[in-house]
Amino acid sequence: MPNRSPKRVLVTGGAGFIGSFLCERLVEEGHEVLAVDNYYTGRRSNIVHLLDRPNFEVMRHDITFALYVEVDQIYNLACPASPGHYQFDPVQTTKTSVHGAINMLGLAKRTKARILQASTSEIYGDPNVHPQPEDYWGHVNPIGPRACYDEGKRCAETLFFDYHRQHGVDIKVARIFNTYGPRMHPNDGRVVSNFIVQALSGEPVTIYGDGSQTRSFCYVDDLVDGLIRLMNSPDDITGPINLGNPGEFSILQLAQMVLAKTGSKVSIERRTLPRDDPRQRQPDIARAQSLLGWSPTVGLEQGLDRTIAYFTNALRPAVASAG
Ligand code: NAD
Ligand code: UDP
Repeated sequence: MPNRSPKRVLVTGGAGFIGSFLCERLVEEGHEVLAVDNYYTGRRSNIVHLLDRPNFEVMRHDITFALYVEVDQIYNLACPASPGHYQFDPVQTTKTSVHGAINMLGLAKRTKARILQASTSEIYGDPNVHPQPEDYWGHVNPIGPRACYDEGKRCAETLFFDYHRQHGVDIKVARIFNTYGPRMHPNDGRVVSNFIVQALSGEPVTIYGDGSQTRSFCYVDDLVDGLIRLMNSPDDITGPINLGNPGEFSILQLAQMVLAKTGSKVSIERRTLPRDDPRQRQPDIARAQSLLGWSPTVGLEQGLDRTIAYFTNALRPAVASAG
């Protein structure tokens, strides 16, 4: 169960989509929260409402450089997560995953802090095993356009387990599956925000390939709850642990749901399927259920409603001009 005694908590990537919700929860729980971010994909507006809280602080810093702070817990979330963003500067993406992990693990080693890595279902690549359990080693192209992210995150996991075995660092590794919700950047490029923004602004919904590829979508509140449970789990639970919603949908189904919910009459436009795009993805969450007592509670219908409400408000001028 979550440990509620106040701690000094560092959240790297704290101004990003998931990071901002995590900071919010930790501030509410009374911890001293330090968000570190270089604003590569994150935004001040995601955390501006926390700035007047006495137990919240933010620092502009790139985790590929050393960081000297005193903390009890580290959530390492810094890394662009959308394919468009992580492929924009792939060398920086690998540096963030690998050098960033080394720096944060070094910090954890010096301060004896517990450290949680935001790993990813991309560890499994284009999976041949379905759904994906944690003991599946994956099917990743090491030299393709997604490799900077996939292999960067795989190397980060290697580093976490080596720091654990070699230096006794107290680690937790979460493998996060597709997560969505309010505060995703409107130009993020990931499928849920893309479809909603397109539908609301009167632009065609872009389906890559034939739309038969599947994903399993987790609402951000559920994910944050899983991360906090994992961080505060007993010492011997290192992970990796899958965190995601097992509800599996094709991309075409998702497009149809978004169109129905927004009442938008825009067309569906087919685009070329990006290289190495995984055909299917669904988490096996038996470990999270048994070890953390965690299961997602927000279904896709409900989560889409909340996300559409957020974007309707955030895009108000653009929506008005689209009629
Ligand atoms: P995001 O892009 O909104 O957030 C990432 C944050 O990290 C941003 O605020 C960005 O500015 C910051 N950042 C990037 N490089 C940095 C650097 N070198 N130094 C400091 N800050 C840096 O993405 P997100 O969806 O919130 O993802 C957060 C984490 O969760 C990432 O590590 C991502 O790989 C992981 N994850 C997310 C998903 C998902 O579906 N959202 C799935 C799997 C894993
Ligand atoms: N996708 C799509 N249209 C879009 C954006 C994404 O059809 O406008 C597809 C993409 O090809 C992939 C799935 O949706 O099959 C999920 O893409 P996303 O970028 O959200 O994340 P991924 O799971 O691929 O990392």
